[in-house]
Amino acid sequence: MTITKMKRHRWTIVLLSTLLLGSVLLTGCEEGGQGQKEGQNLNSPSTGDTSQEVTPEAPTEGTGNTSDGSEIGEGDTEVDSIMAMRAQNSLQSNVEKQGDLSVVTNAEAMTVIVNKQRSLPEGYEPSDLVEPNVPFSFDGPHEKRHLRKEAAGALEQLFAAAENDGIELRAVSGYRSYQRQVSVYNSSVERNGEEYAARVSAKPGYSEHQTGLSIDVSSPSVGNVIEEVFGDSEEGKWLKEHAPEYGFVIRYPEGREETTGYVYEPWHIRYVGKELAPDIAESGLTLEEYFDEDNIKL
Ligand SMILES: [Zn+2]
Repeated sequence: MTITKMKRHRWTIVLLSTLLLGSVLLTGCEEGGQGQKEGQNLNSPSTGDTSQEVTPEAPTEGTGNTSDGSEIGEGDTEVDSIMAMRAQNSLQSNVEKQGDLSVVTNAEAMTVIVNKQRSLPEGYEPSDLVEPNVPFSFDGPHEKRHLRKEAAGALEQLFAAAENDGIELRAVSGYRSYQRQVSVYNSSVERNGEEYAARVSAKPGYSEHQTGLSIDVSSPSVGNVIEEVFGDSEEGKWLKEHAPEYGFVIRYPEGREETTGYVYEPWHIRYVGKELAPDIAESGLTLEEYFDEDNIKL
């Protein structure tokens, strides 16, 4: 890498750091009663320490987006920028060990990765939960109607686009608080025993719905169920194709439970931001793979 490129990288990272710091929020939603979660053998390494953060340095030259276009084309710049975001948000650089547990250190990031190996900090609750103005599958107030603000706005755009295409979607379950996950998990233990409960339901602190960046979506055409049949419906196919344009990805793709820890969930979408979602979808990688630093080439 040339010196010039390195400087550009550094400046890109400074910009990204600033942007990321400015967007501190989190929310959660809940999931329907659907049993889920199988396969404990995630292979996402959670070895990171927290000292890996890129140190922002003041740029020493020119204005931020200097145009040394002779060396790097527009496309290259975009690729560099995405790679820098991946590096900044890698699994390994955003987790810390607490005894046997791996706890994420970027709970408020749009790119936070929570799974069966990586929990949110104890008591984590997003600070900017709002209720998106979209049709839900149920009436009445409930915490599961909420998402973090940025994700909620994106969901409204997604639903509006669907409606324009004649596609009828329903929001089923968004934010789920730690406390509600406790009762969901405990009732599962009472019904099924601890061993089984651990397979079908996230333990408190380990549900992505607690981040406020995930929501389960279905359609009246399938009775608003959150089951695999939704993935085969016209609405489910539309969702898979268009969700990335609005910053969402299908979080648990078919046949990828070895890396995500969960079976196929065509109804569960996760907001990661409009910059990265299309690239993630195009890559065919799970979030665990996409943000594994072994797969990030700077
Ligand atoms: Zn879900």
